[in-house]
Order: sequence, then structure tokens, then C-alpha cells
Amino acid sequence: MQTYQHYINGAYVDPAQGQWFDSHDPYRGEVWAQMPRGTAADVDAAVAAAKAALDGPYGDLTASARGKLMRRLGDLVAENADRLAEIEVRDNGKLLSEMAGQMRYHPEWWYYFAGLADKVEGSVIPIDKPNHLAFTRHEPVGVVGAITAWNSPLLFVAWKCAPAIAAGCTVVIKPSEFTSASTLEYAALVKEAGFPDGVFNVVAGMGAEAGAALVDHPDVAKITFTGSDKTGAMIYSQAAKHIKRVSLELGGKSPNVIFDDANLDAACAGAVSGIFAATGQTCIAGSRLLVQNSVRDAVEAKMVEIARTAKIGDPMKAETNIGPVTTAPQYAKIREYIGVAESEGAKLLFGGGTPQGPEIQGGQFVEPTIFTGVLNSMRIAQEEVFGPVLSIIGFEDEDEAVEIGNDIAFGLAAGVWTQNIGRAVRMSERLKAGTVWVNTYRAVSYMMPFGGVKRSGIGRESGVEAIREYLSTKSVWINTSDEAPGNPFVMR
Ligand code: NAD
Repeated sequence: MQTYQHYINGAYVDPAQGQWFDSHDPYRGEVWAQMPRGTAADVDAAVAAAKAALDGPYGDLTASARGKLMRRLGDLVAENADRLAEIEVRDNGKLLSEMAGQMRYHPEWWYYFAGLADKVEGSVIPIDKPNHLAFTRHEPVGVVGAITAWNSPLLFVAWKCAPAIAAGCTVVIKPSEFTSASTLEYAALVKEAGFPDGVFNVVAGMGAEAGAALVDHPDVAKITFTGSDKTGAMIYSQAAKHIKRVSLELGGKSPNVIFDDANLDAACAGAVSGIFAATGQTCIAGSRLLVQNSVRDAVEAKMVEIARTAKIGDPMKAETNIGPVTTAPQYAKIREYIGVAESEGAKLLFGGGTPQGPEIQGGQFVEPTIFTGVLNSMRIAQEEVFGPVLSIIGFEDEDEAVEIGNDIAFGLAAGVWTQNIGRAVRMSERLKAGTVWVNTYRAVSYMMPFGGVKRSGIGRESGVEAIREYLSTKSVWINTSDEAPGNPFVMR
């Protein structure tokens, strides 16, 4: 059994109140580590360290020097990718094949934003007032509080911290209480990369304790959050009390739309990657599969065939397709939604139960589950399940697909499967979502902005625009004339 500590001001330290909590291996159903239970006192210490780093010599470091540290961190993450991926799998039960891929790709965020760090340029404004030099500077917002979810803990660390540190901010991270280990281990690499103490801090603990204390802290200038819309709304209103900047990466109920002119094999593979990959535990899950009625039978048959042959079991094994559900509450929620769908009159096409087999004992497993005959008004179509549960909804034509696709509170992502280029462009314009994939699904890149509209969130991660989330624009006016100002009682 491993016992972890917070990482504050460049050192691993015990929690102020001397309390730890269990971290479970969702596959084996066992406790495998003890995590420090952070409280306001730990958050105070971490924020003080982050503020002191900003106010000290680190704050004066050039952007190019910060970029060098970031590149070094990227190299260290690359060297440790497989080890970190295994820690993530132990904590969240996602497939090692997925998490190892994520971790090997992860350094790209550090390299990309390291390159951007010294290209944050202000502008000289050709100002309309004579005898003035007017220009803008983009300054770091200050200490950033980053609160992350359990499904891809370190990916979120990179998405948030790489642009924040490139912008010149310092960070305090509160990882999910279900998956704190990888972020705490990661801190050692930040130290090894040579970042000064206080730039990167990790306080583990419960949302309502350590998380809430971070949001409420007067010296935290900005909160960047990944999690559910319910918690996001709470954080947004709490941050509003301090007029604090916030970015929110929240949930989704994304439509994945298959037209009858699509390559149906590719479309069904995309539908699977949208809902059964990661056991459906992704914010971008294509949980509403909108299928043109003329090809519904064919699509349903293919989807059932893929679900039937998917290998369910040990997430560490390369041949496994579907692993366990990460948390006990999440498992209970998925089971509840399967019951809700049945009681609403959706037709169970496949799954719904607990899979059997030698690799299943102990874990929280759900069969890949497909409902058809779903109406978009049903709860199973409107609410985020965050599990391997697909709702198939039929449609007649493009207008109806758009109407159903957009008839939802969320707007994180959408998929479109068609061979018709005009239709592909029209659909990408008409669907209200932060990302639209055409003839692909679940592709992400450090270069491409990611985020939601409507209840899926505010702000963007990745891509050039992500750095702006951590910058504040200052306008500087310099009067170049030696003459006394005119009437001081009127605006110039
Ligand atoms: P969650 O909202 O339960 O928790 C997220 C984080 O918020 C955790 O670290 C938790 O401890 C913290 N938290 C909880 N209450 C808090 C409070 N009062 N104050 C401050 N922090 C608090 O979400 P989850 O179950 O960890 O993750 C699943 C959700 O995340 C899903 O809705 C999913 O769609 C969403 N998600 C979104 C994205 C995205 O990029 N848009 C990515 C992954 C997951």
C-alpha cells in the first residue's frame, strides 16, 4: 500500500490535518493507495507558494527561459510515459492501450506551448489621439487553480498547465479524489525539470473541501475546471463572488449523425469509438447516435455485432476493448440510467447487464448497451450517462437531423458521417457544438481548440487561443508631448 503526500512549494508534505483517504483500483475492486485529504490550510500553503513564486525571481524569468523548462518537462514526461500511464490505469481502470497512447502524446502540449511562450506579443495601436504612444501587453493573470476530473487526469494537467505556465502563471492543482496518484507523481518530474519551488503545486482531497477552498481563495485569480455541469455551475457562481476568471470544460450529450450515403463500416467504427471506447467515460461521448431511417436496420445490425465481439476485461491487457467503470457512484448511475431507459419505453437492442467471464470478478463492469427507438425527449437522450450506453434515434432528412442534434442543453461535440461534401459543410455549420468531426470521431490535438458551447462550458483548451485564457491585456498610454494637458475636467 502506497501513501501519498501533497506537493507544495517544491516538496512532498503531509496534509495539515493529518488525514488520508483510500484510492481504489476499479478493476480489482481493492484499495491500493492512501491519498492526502487536503483542507483549506493545505490550499492556503499551496496558494501562498504559488504567489511567492510569481512575486519572486520566477516572475522575472524571460518567456524563453520558461519555454526551456517546459521543453525539459516534456522530455521527462516522454521518458516516464508508460509508468505514468500504468498509474492512471490503476486509479481509473481505463485501458492501458488508451492511457499509454495519451501519455506518449502528452509531451506535445508542453513542446507546443513552450514554443508559444515567447511569442505572446502585444500590439502598437495607431492611436487616434495625437502625441501618444499606445500599446498593449499581455500579462499573466496570476495564480491559477486547476480542478480536474477522473477520466484523463494527466491529459487535463497538460491542457491546463502548459498554456498557464507558458503565459507566466503559477498553478495549484486539485485532482479528482478518485485519481490523485498520477498528478502527485507528475509533480516530481516538474521538480526534476528545474521549475522553481511554488510554480506547480498539487493538493489532493475532496471537491467540497480542497476544491471549494481553491475556488474561494482570494489570491487565486482564475479557476480552470474540468468536470460535470452541475459542479461547474456551482464553481461558476462561487467564483462570481470574487469576480474571478473561470474556464469550464463540462459534460456533453453529443449527436453522432449517420446519413444513408455514409461509408457504414467507417461510421459504425466511429460510433463505437464515440460510445464504447473508454467505457463511454468521455465528455465527448457520441451518446446519441442519429441514424437516417433508410439505413437504421443495417447500422443497428453492425453495432450489435461490434458490441457482441468486444473483449471486456483487464484494462492492462492489450487485447481488451472495454474495461471497468471507474467509480462506484458512476457505476450505480449507469445502472440507474439503463433502468430509466427501459421504463421510458426505449427498446434494449443489446447488453444492459453485467458481463460474465474469468476477468470480470471484482470490477464494476457494464455490458456495452444499445437502446433503439429512443425519442430525443427521453431522459436517456437528454442527460449525460457517462458510460457505455448508446441511444439510437432515427431521422428522415438533414433538417430533422439538425433539429434533433441541437435539441439538447449541451454543445461539446458532434459527429457527421456522409460522403456528400456539401452536406458535410452544411452540417458542420448548423450543429451547435464546440467541435464537429466529419467522417472521424474523438480526434484531439494540442493544436486544435477544444471546448463547448451552451451547458458544455466556457473557454477553450489547446491551440493558440488557449493561452489567452491565462492572460490579461494591459493598455499602456504614453503621452509624448511636453505640453501641459488641456482641460482636465473632460475626457481626452
Ligand atoms: P465532478 O464534477 O464530480 O468533479 C470534477 C472535479 O471537481 C473533481 O476534482 C471534484 O473533486 C471537484 N469538485 C467537486 N465539487 C466541488 C466543489 N464544490 N468545489 C470545487 N471543486 C469541486 O466530475 P467528475 O465526475 O470527476 O468527471 C466527470 C464529468 O466531467 C462528466 O460530466 C464529464 O463530461 C466531464 N468532463 C468534461 C471534459 C471536457 O473537457 N469538457 C473532459 C472530461 C470530463
